[in-house]
Amino acid sequence: MASQPLSPAPAARKPKAAKVAKAAKTGASQLERKFQRLGLVEPADFVVHLPIRYEDETRIAEIGSVLPGRNVQVEGEVLYSEVQLRPRRQLVAAISDGTGRLYLRWLHFYPNQQRQVEAGRRVRVRGEVRQGFNGSEIVHPRVTVAGGPLPDALTPVYPATDGLPQPSLRRRIAQALEHADLAETLPPALCASLALPSFAGAIRTLHAPPAGMAVHDLVERGHPAWRRIKFDELLAQQLSLALARRRRRSQRAEPLTAANAELVQRLRSSLPFSLTAAQERVIGEIASDLARSFPMHRLLQGDVGSGKTIVAAFAAAQAIASGSQVAIMAPTEILAGQHFQKLSDWLQPLGVQVVWLTGSLTQKQRRQALENIASGHAELVIGTQALIQEKVQFPRLGLVILDEQHRFGVAQRLELNRKGDAEDASPELGPRLPHQLNMSATPIPRTLAMTFFADLDVSLIDELPPGRSPVITKLISDARREEVLSLVHREVQDGRQAYWVCPLVEESEALQLQTAVDTHGWLSEAFPDMTVGLMHGRMPAAEKQAVMDGFRRGEVQLLVATTVIEVGVDVPNACLMIIEHAERFGLAQLHQLRGRVGRGGGQSVCVLLYQGPLSMVARDRLKAMYETTDGFEIARRDLEQRGPGEFLGMRQSGQELLRYADLQSDTAIVEQAREAAALLMRDYPEHVSRHLQRWMRGRQDLLRS
Ligand code: ADP
Ligand code: MG
Repeated sequence: MASQPLSPAPAARKPKAAKVAKAAKTGASQLERKFQRLGLVEPADFVVHLPIRYEDETRIAEIGSVLPGRNVQVEGEVLYSEVQLRPRRQLVAAISDGTGRLYLRWLHFYPNQQRQVEAGRRVRVRGEVRQGFNGSEIVHPRVTVAGGPLPDALTPVYPATDGLPQPSLRRRIAQALEHADLAETLPPALCASLALPSFAGAIRTLHAPPAGMAVHDLVERGHPAWRRIKFDELLAQQLSLALARRRRRSQRAEPLTAANAELVQRLRSSLPFSLTAAQERVIGEIASDLARSFPMHRLLQGDVGSGKTIVAAFAAAQAIASGSQVAIMAPTEILAGQHFQKLSDWLQPLGVQVVWLTGSLTQKQRRQALENIASGHAELVIGTQALIQEKVQFPRLGLVILDEQHRFGVAQRLELNRKGDAEDASPELGPRLPHQLNMSATPIPRTLAMTFFADLDVSLIDELPPGRSPVITKLISDARREEVLSLVHREVQDGRQAYWVCPLVEESEALQLQTAVDTHGWLSEAFPDMTVGLMHGRMPAAEKQAVMDGFRRGEVQLLVATTVIEVGVDVPNACLMIIEHAERFGLAQLHQLRGRVGRGGGQSVCVLLYQGPLSMVARDRLKAMYETTDGFEIARRDLEQRGPGEFLGMRQSGQELLRYADLQSDTAIVEQAREAAALLMRDYPEHVSRHLQRWMRGRQDLLRS
């Protein structure tokens, strides 16, 4: 009764019946809550909650043939059973079927369990066999009366949460299978051409594989039934991407057509360097996006140091020349400050009004900035998260640029978009949205980009500015620290500068801070004739800025820092980077840190100081860093080592990206799903909505925007 699904109670009930119903309902709703925690609400959810493995209860094995480590089901007669008191209180029984003897042992037991195995009874026993003191035994076996009917299908074992018994799950899923709609969502021709089994067939096979089926195929997910499920899942994802794209194309944005305006041309001719071919290409891609009347949604990828900032400046110039305001948002104050400086240098002489907005402005400065923005006087606004606060009003926001976009949460990114011109909303066409340019130095491998990034066009700067020689990476054991010190000394004597990155202390921020202060202390002692600066996350913004400025001007020769310098910091004269306890850092982080050097003309060196013994994972990471400086290769290995969820920083959301398909081993299916999505969008609109209905209920928002 308690495991029945909740059904609406009939209006009139006799009091007694109502009481019983209420008790049952409490039990049921507890169970219901556990189901909900697994995302199981509607029958359709239960139907696609698929087993992780199976137990074979279709056969009775001979006791003489059972092997330790296997799950078995046997039947036999209880030879004896007794409660032993030493070495501890336990119930022990022995059964035999004539081919051998099996011991059963309970460390906790109830009287009814004792009665189940009274001598002379015939029992059916299931459990995992192990080698006991007297011979084969099962600890805490499941026991029923011998001779009952055997199931004709394998018994599924489902992913579950604590306290959710498999039998309840099985019962509910079996019910769902009877009631839910298992109708086909794919056109028959598509199933035929890809040799996919029907959805109903695949689902039934996976929930209840017929006796004798090769379990290995099912568990390893190579069986055609699994292929169908993975295909369906990936197809749903591709379809929702395609729909998002279609939706965006129906939205409105201001066309920013002034790609050849005087402002843009003057920016080009004022640069102290000439753009790389890759920069020219992506500037062109962005320029034509901006000229469209629906919002651009583009990701600009380029390895650290590839020169993304100037590309952003060109996009901004085009937007400003077209009469729009532009907002650039960076994840840290240091980075925002650096952008402010650079973009002011480039654009202010050309007459552009640049405004700076961060959390650390004084009340007065802040009010002034807000007024400038609201009056439309400010043409280019650069800042941190402060930009997305309520009070900031842009009358003509035409373009939003996010630097290091992976550092921002999805919500923050959407928020900035909403700064668009709501007053301009027209009843038929909706509000006008700003164009959006995301920039990232964390390259996203292609399969990942095409599966997880909601409707994003990608531009790639695949070339570094000329005259850069790749950074040399050295792995040095902590025991050889002295060598590293002399390296720093030599570098500074030659007039160059160095970073010293403090070890990451994940457990405690206070400890991390202490480590930074200590490191600064002993390095200052070790180099009495140098100016050693210190920068960490807890310092007030103004102080950080002052240290950074000193370093940029060359007054500070050695900068001791925590990972606050990880993103974007650009000081070309810094040619040496020491990373202490490099084994504690993630691959992407190491790559970002290393990207702080190798920005000037000279030869740069990155020293990864490590302390052994290294774990396998840490060894792989350091090896990858040593072997390549190519950001894409690093990203590929990072993805391989960490898996997509963690790679994309989506772990915290608690929801899996894909439940069944695996991007690394199922790339062929990803491609098929992509092609099929295009086909369905074009020729089978009915099927599109049916398929999404089944697979994407409430999950669309998982896609990154
Ligand atoms: P990132 O892509 O990591 O954000 P930046 O935009 O900070 O890189 O550029 C790194 C450095 O390279 C900056 O000092 C920038 O002025 C310089 N730079 C950018 N483009 C070129 C180029 N085409 N030629 C020479 N230097 C360039
Ligand atoms: Mg940058």
